[in-house]
Amino acid sequence: MSDLSGLQVQCPQCKRVLFLTTGKYDPTKAPNGGMVKSKVPWHIDWLTTKGTKAAEMTCPECLGQLAHSGSLIVKVPTARIAEVYRALFPEDYMTEEAPIETPKKKGKR
Ligand SMILES: [Zn+2]
Repeated sequence: MSDLSGLQVQCPQCKRVLFLTTGKYDPTKAPNGGMVKSKVPWHIDWLTTKGTKAAEMTCPECLGQLAHSGSLIVKVPTARIAEVYRALFPEDYMTEEAPIETPKKKGKR
């Protein structure tokens, strides 16, 4: 599995970026506390461990749910778009890598 750590996680409500993804972040799976690490220097009232469910992951600034829509809002820099795309659509990526078929010659059956 690819390592999508270090991506900025944005609060859907106040738009602040107070968390970064960890190596456990997988955009195809339901978020949990283990997928993020806090950037704030103070204590937050939930644990950044696997046992913390998406609904419990709240923004320490506005108390909104970080994964309100069911997934985290992650800001992806241009240089890492391919990496994230590959994690989201591994099958498409394989297709893209497949050798290009040479066109069949006319007249042959
Ligand atoms: Zn917020």
